[in-house]
Amino acid sequence: MIKTENTLIQLVDVDAERVRYLYRNAPVAIAVNIAIGGLMYWVLWDRVLHDYLTDWLLALIVITAIRAFTVFQFIHTSPPNQSMANWRMAFLIGSTLNGLLWGMTLWIFAPFASFETPVFITFAVGGLSAGAAALLGGTFRVYLSYVIATMVPVAAWFLMQEGSEIHFIMGSMLVIYIFAVLSAGMIYRRVLLKSIDLSNQLVEAREEAEIANKAKSKFLASMSHELRTPLNAILGFGQLLELDQEQLPEKHRTHVQEILKGGHHLLELINEVLDLSKIEAGRIGLSIETVHLDLLIDECRTLIEPSLSKYKVSLHYKDSECQPPTVLVDFTRLKQVLLNLLSNACKYNHTGGRVTLGCTPVADNRVRISVEDTGIGIPMNNQSKLFHPFSRLGQEASTIEGTGIGLVISKQLIELMDGEIGYSSNPGEGSTFWIELPCSVVQP
Ligand code: ADP
Repeated sequence: MIKTENTLIQLVDVDAERVRYLYRNAPVAIAVNIAIGGLMYWVLWDRVLHDYLTDWLLALIVITAIRAFTVFQFIHTSPPNQSMANWRMAFLIGSTLNGLLWGMTLWIFAPFASFETPVFITFAVGGLSAGAAALLGGTFRVYLSYVIATMVPVAAWFLMQEGSEIHFIMGSMLVIYIFAVLSAGMIYRRVLLKSIDLSNQLVEAREEAEIANKAKSKFLASMSHELRTPLNAILGFGQLLELDQEQLPEKHRTHVQEILKGGHHLLELINEVLDLSKIEAGRIGLSIETVHLDLLIDECRTLIEPSLSKYKVSLHYKDSECQPPTVLVDFTRLKQVLLNLLSNACKYNHTGGRVTLGCTPVADNRVRISVEDTGIGIPMNNQSKLFHPFSRLGQEASTIEGTGIGLVISKQLIELMDGEIGYSSNPGEGSTFWIELPCSVVQP
């Protein structure tokens, strides 16, 4: 766990995670153990003394049951990091006893059997210890003790069969095999440690990024606030000059208009940056209520009037198919989004162009509001940059005013209202921006 400026972040404790990894994998190991034990019982039934075989299987079942109980306890109680050393010891004892039972099989059964029996047992035991590399390798001590308990008695049995060359060769090969599986376990341990380390680095990096992002939003919010005060003074004095413009020389009148135009643009930019930083900092409060779309559209129509006449475009309505058109949204914020889409449809239109507003019910009891224009459209190669902050897609060089943040804010607001925003655009022919929102009553 590390302490950052505002929060405590939980880093994975490497040792504890390795123990958890052992227990997480244990059900697989136990199942394989029982399956191979049963197979061994069946194969050896006609080859070795029945009493020995049954006692061996019983011992395997008892040890496995105790291990299964321990694993269940661990998974059920999710023990704290401090107790992990005890749990590791319990696992080590269980797996070593289990391994020893497998390792001793040759000593118990082989004296009464033909040569194929030790070969079968060696395959089974060798397979178990190789398979355990992935399951136990993360905690090398546990794996080492399992391999020693399982494989060393088998190798020793072969090496101690005096006068038999084939037994000696088998024994020597098993010694090499022991080193091979142990190195596989060590490699596995390194991989696991690396992956835990990487996941910790990821947690830290994400935390740092979040802190930096919050700092940025805080900075933007306070800067925007500080900038608005002097800017409002500039705009106020500009408007006073505008009122007295009769007394101003012609040249200064144009200058005042430029000051006011620039000031308004800057104010719009500051307001939008402030909005965006509030949304990103999660400091925006929405009041979700049932909103009648016709009321909201009526308000938007009045507010968009100046843009319609400035850009000389006309506004039309598609026949509404929504009965009744009510949605669950924040009235002011939806108005802000709709006005942004309508204003874009005017700004990026041709003189004499059309803007069409539509509303259709769609699946999942939602309603789609669309704003269609006959404007310049969005070039294909720029479409992927839409909804990116400060991305004006080539319009920064044009005379059309804008900040490149409106669509980003719209997207965030719509998503906060459990909605979706999208578009389709044909360069040179026009664009359609749409939003889908949840209806407040179930549509018939
Ligand atoms: P702004 O309009 O202030 O530049 P927006 O975020 O609203 O910012 O839009 C980003 C960019 O997307 C615009 O600069 C413009 O290039 C493009 N755009 C948005 N709406 C339309 C539209 N209806 N037709 C063509 N281009 C559009």
